[in-house]
Amino acid sequence: MILKCKALNLPLILETLNICLYSFRSYRPFYLQLTSMPSINYSTQKPCSPFDGDKPSNIQKQVQPKLRITTDGDKCGGTPVQLQLKEKRKKGYCECCLQKYEDLETHLLSEKHRNFAQSNQYQVVDDIISKLVFDFVEYERDTPKKKRIKYSI
Ligand SMILES: [Zn+2]
Repeated sequence: MILKCKALNLPLILETLNICLYSFRSYRPFYLQLTSMPSINYSTQKPCSPFDGDKPSNIQKQVQPKLRITTDGDKCGGTPVQLQLKEKRKKGYCECCLQKYEDLETHLLSEKHRNFAQSNQYQVVDDIISKLVFDFVEYERDTPKKKRIKYSI
């Protein structure tokens, strides 16, 4: 043991410790307090996460939203969860305007955001796009006389 310790790079260890101490002093600690710590549960059904817990209701909750897309859906009573998710998605942070918004649609219509959207700030994207090759078949715009057939899947 002693021999191994001698081989270690002590100044480096001290420096690392110092950096750790420094960051402890500079940043607020971040905690997570749980009533029960995560445990690996091998008895969950296969695509489910082993951290889902052993309650069968949890497994159903995980699977149902995917199934609901194909079925008509309002039967399961899982809609409030979906609505909550939608509500959450509406709130966010705009990286263009560098500001938080409460409602996405309203923010997209705000003057600041529209000014950005119409500015030349997307030149960096356009520069990359200009290097790509367009190899799709480009049809002319449909004349109003022709009725466009809508395919529904
Ligand atoms: Zn914005």
